[in-house]
Amino acid sequence: MHELRKDILIGRWVVVMTDHSKDPSYYFTDRRKPAPRIEPCPLCLQGNGLGTKEILAVKNPDDPNASVAVRVLANKDPLLQVDGDLSRRGVGMYDAMNGIGANEVIVESVEHNIEPEEIGNGHMAVLLDTYRQRLADLQKDTRFRYLLLFKNHGRAAGSAYDHPHSQIVATPITPKTVREELNGARTYFKFKERCIFCDILSQEMKTGTRIVAENIDFLAFVPFAPRSPFEIWILPRRHQHNYTDLKPEQTGSLASILTACLMKLKLILKDPPYNLVLHNSPNKLPRVDHWQTLEDDFHWHIELIPRLFRMDGFEWGSGLHILPTTPEDAAGFLRRA
Ligand SMILES: [Zn+2]
Ligand SMILES: [Zn+2]
Ligand SMILES: [Zn+2]
Repeated sequence: MHELRKDILIGRWVVVMTDHSKDPSYYFTDRRKPAPRIEPCPLCLQGNGLGTKEILAVKNPDDPNASVAVRVLANKDPLLQVDGDLSRRGVGMYDAMNGIGANEVIVESVEHNIEPEEIGNGHMAVLLDTYRQRLADLQKDTRFRYLLLFKNHGRAAGSAYDHPHSQIVATPITPKTVREELNGARTYFKFKERCIFCDILSQEMKTGTRIVAENIDFLAFVPFAPRSPFEIWILPRRHQHNYTDLKPEQTGSLASILTACLMKLKLILKDPPYNLVLHNSPNKLPRVDHWQTLEDDFHWHIELIPRLFRMDGFEWGSGLHILPTTPEDAAGFLRRA
């Protein structure tokens, strides 16, 4: 089992691979040539190449004769393990705990070469509803504070398999990036008694220059101060704090706007590596006094972050991101694509 350790200065947790600590050669492959892919592909349907539990297999109701559309498998080398207890402990002045959590792989299509923007709206809706089902199920486990759903596309974005897939990692802590957003949203709500994301939506609608795509249920835009050029956020237009409250009609609209955004990125940036993250509401602790305004102050959203270059020393050291394209120009390119 790996170990979670806390940076005592800024409160950031890291996962330390205490189980199989790697020697320096582990880091060479990336620089010389990409590591060879695993053959045959463990995520293709013939057998379960991961050799782990199949958690879910979902068919596309629009295509009843087809085989399974989306599968959910337990990850083979999970970052965090489901079994065991947290055993929070002090290590001298520091804090650590066992790497308890869950790590699921969502196989987006049984076909090896079809990217999510090519699977069609019905299949995409099945995928988005599978996300909802798995998050709702994992939210029942009170050991987990947070469930991060993400997708890595392309090796530069950290993808381990060529086969289109996304992942859910359940963590016993709230990750720092998420905590910063939650704190920002809560502070704004305390001050204004309004959801900051709802206010951002109306500001973006009013300004208009950063909008990428929109439909009846969702707005996609380049944020005012993004971390990466061409970063896109997708938000439900009506306030909703938890993705698991997604309604069937919203699922269809989300499928179409997400497909549109992925196609636009692919078209204008020539299939860039990217990360997709779902920032959902954290799991509420079963305590009456815990975070009364969470349902009002947080608003789930998807962030699409193209990985266009590596961070340099200035960005690593300062956290100040540099954007060679203005968000307004980026939105213009995306809108017209
Ligand atoms: Zn495959
Ligand atoms: Zn809101
Ligand atoms: Zn976010």
